[in-house]
Amino acid sequence: MTTQQTDQLTRSQYLAQLEDKHTAHNYHPLDVVIERAEGAWVWDVEGKKYLDCLAAYSAVNQGHCHPKILAALQEQATKITLTSRAFRNEQLPMFGKEICELTGFEKVLAMNSGTEAVESSIKVARKWGYKIKGIAEGKAEIIVCTNNFHGRTIAIVGFSTDEQYRDGFGPYPAGFKVIPYGDVDALRKAITPNTCAFLVEPIQGEAGILMPPDGFIRESFEVCRENNVLLMLDEIQSGLGRTGKMFCYEHEGIKPDVLIVGKALAGGFYPVSAVLASKEIIGVITPGDHGSTFGGNPLACAVARASLKVIVEEKMCERSAELGDYLMGKFRSLKNPAIKEIRGRGLWIGIELEGKARPYCEALKDEGILCKETHDHVIRIAPPLIVTREELDWAFERIAKVLEMKF
Ligand SMILES: *Cc1c(COP(=O)(O)O)cnc(C)c1O
Repeated sequence: MTTQQTDQLTRSQYLAQLEDKHTAHNYHPLDVVIERAEGAWVWDVEGKKYLDCLAAYSAVNQGHCHPKILAALQEQATKITLTSRAFRNEQLPMFGKEICELTGFEKVLAMNSGTEAVESSIKVARKWGYKIKGIAEGKAEIIVCTNNFHGRTIAIVGFSTDEQYRDGFGPYPAGFKVIPYGDVDALRKAITPNTCAFLVEPIQGEAGILMPPDGFIRESFEVCRENNVLLMLDEIQSGLGRTGKMFCYEHEGIKPDVLIVGKALAGGFYPVSAVLASKEIIGVITPGDHGSTFGGNPLACAVARASLKVIVEEKMCERSAELGDYLMGKFRSLKNPAIKEIRGRGLWIGIELEGKARPYCEALKDEGILCKETHDHVIRIAPPLIVTREELDWAFERIAKVLEMKF
């Protein structure tokens, strides 16, 4: 044992106390202290095993510690990890080529966290608005939706509709307009000659896997096209196989002007994010306009290349579609008055409850399943995409049992 502990406490309790004493309380985690993981499973410090049904908010779609991504990380880490963008490195061009070939976009802007990629897309959209669309300096507007989640910077929480995300952090930058999620007429009405972009999640993950009405994304695409407004899709959580396609927009038969990815782009090993768009759009950023010490570093690029390859080679989109349909069918068969609604796409299922979700997540933990409530009433089921049908059967039995409990 590497840390001291007292006799009365379990190791988990000791570590939880230590964490609460010394680290910022910006989360309210379930009391499980995880030590290691493999595939869809994690183990706590007492050696108890759990099926991970959160997958780090979809950052480990490929499964924990995927051996091929691990090998890429290890190999690259012995060569070079960081050059800074003051010099070129041998991995960034290959990452650029591969992600552009995979997605069909012309250019990528490499960043680190998802939040940074969203911030970067906002900068790109505004600059595109001024330099290409011809909006008067300082007037650019971006339209966003109610219940959005795009990250935690000042600009991003500034246009959040969640009071807690904003409270105490103002003043906020101007230039954002909020419309109701799913309302294409509101989008049409909100657009002015100064609108440069519409930033939206094709399914709202953090809001509780909220699905827009059928056709909303497709119609938004058309409205944006008619008005010379960039459609910017935040697929940080919905992308890379989670909904049963590589990207959620593929269900709609459209392609956004700007695509924002993160999370599973590095299979959980490393923060890697990206903004993808045409040459013309990404081209508004010229040397010195924008940057990041770590963005596009060789270790990140090597990990991202391996992470994308694994999703394709192991047919994770197909798995997500097939197993998602299978699991959704099972949930839909439940007759339980505690359940208000079940929704989702692929292996991304939200169970909205009449009451609070937290006690159910705690009970699921005791049954060996890790889920996290989102927005009080929703349990999000989003296991790594390598999960098997048998593991889902096992999990379903336990979830169904726990949902019968009364709190
Ligand atoms: C997680 C998430 C982000 C923020 O990504 P970070 O890596 O946490 O900065 C932005 N948008 C969406 C839709 C997300 O799910």
